[in-house]
Amino acid sequence: MPIHLCNTCGTSYPDSPAPPSGCPICEDERQFVPRGGQVWTTPEKLAGGHVNGWRRLETDLFEIHTHPGFGIGQRALLLRTPGGNILWDCIALLDDATELLVRALGGVQAIAISHPHYYTCMQDWARAFGCAVHLHVADADWVMRPDPAIRHWDGETLEIVAGVTLLRLGGHFPGGTVLHWADGADGRGAILSGDIVQVAADLDRVSFLWSYPNMMPLAAATVRRIAAALTPWRFERIYGAFPGRQVMAGGARAVQRSAARYDELLQGTQP
Ligand SMILES: [Zn+2]
Ligand SMILES: [Zn+2]
Repeated sequence: MPIHLCNTCGTSYPDSPAPPSGCPICEDERQFVPRGGQVWTTPEKLAGGHVNGWRRLETDLFEIHTHPGFGIGQRALLLRTPGGNILWDCIALLDDATELLVRALGGVQAIAISHPHYYTCMQDWARAFGCAVHLHVADADWVMRPDPAIRHWDGETLEIVAGVTLLRLGGHFPGGTVLHWADGADGRGAILSGDIVQVAADLDRVSFLWSYPNMMPLAAATVRRIAAALTPWRFERIYGAFPGRQVMAGGARAVQRSAARYDELLQGTQP
């Protein structure tokens, strides 16, 4: 029996003779069901028409991105550390070539994912590399395909290997998490941010939304809280969810400046 993949968000559902009646991830207002209705695919069909492309973002950070675009179109990031490799966020396509290349780079010590939109095929990646998947417990109800590799963590921070810490910021999802990498940017620090701190088209800005496809904001107090939660952490760079979306310098200042402007706009301060 096949695993079923939602074509719009890439979430995987348990193997069953027929696909589920709908995708709760896409039926939520933070995603959408296409006008033509729910479409399903399988990992085999996906691998038949897609490949993963790689880009080296800095010495120990690789981007893995599926071509042509599939689902939401996010990238996964493979981060190499002396304590083992971390896969940050996930993509649906894990083909033979990707598995071999990841193994050649040392495999995966742990997987961590920013929020449910990128859970995709985390179960298959975890099985291939024999590792755990760290998800925040506040989003536990959004796991559509339970798996023994999934470890739900609680609280505000979790160091998964030395110098790599998950920070729960909430916002877009209650368990919304970013990853702080102390050695990133040549020791100046980096965060890998998914959709939780979204790197904007102007690469000196970030934003924070409840729903990206439906363009719905967060409360000002939530954005202030996210900005405050990041103030103790040193980081120069921010690697967002999508290829090309990274703040390369002044990342911490960009977060504070963008959050302050967001607050001003919600208070009605417009030119
Ligand atoms: Zn979906
Ligand atoms: Zn999202």
